[in-house]
Amino acid sequence: MDLFPQQDKEHNKVYPFYDHLRDGRLTTTKCRACGALKWPPRTVCPECMSDDLEWVDLGQGGKVEIFTVEEVGIPMGFEKPLIHALVVLDNSPLTIFARIVDASPEQVKEGMRVKLKVMKIPRDRVTFAFKPG
Ligand SMILES: [Zn+2]
Repeated sequence: MDLFPQQDKEHNKVYPFYDHLRDGRLTTTKCRACGALKWPPRTVCPECMSDDLEWVDLGQGGKVEIFTVEEVGIPMGFEKPLIHALVVLDNSPLTIFARIVDASPEQVKEGMRVKLKVMKIPRDRVTFAFKPG
């Protein structure tokens, strides 16, 4: 069973997101027709229904707007606690929901600087989080 079918070219039109991530780039799609910038990446613009989208870089850094700590109901394969945050990106108008890693819950603060961390996961797949920095 493939736990990450969204990274497979045959199953997902937004697979370039993962190719970019392998290169250390966090990206999303921007509509060439109306300019709408959306997270997560789309195949069709939800504002104008155009499928003429381009990939844009979201940069590496941001800051924690707010965060929460998950102690129970942790999915298989993850160690607790999990820290989830809304990260305000430096070089984009977007705020995205992401995990914070390499920090304890006591170390994470609102307003804390974070930067992108790309992580390899089984089956030659990648995911991302943010770490202090
Ligand atoms: Zn559009």
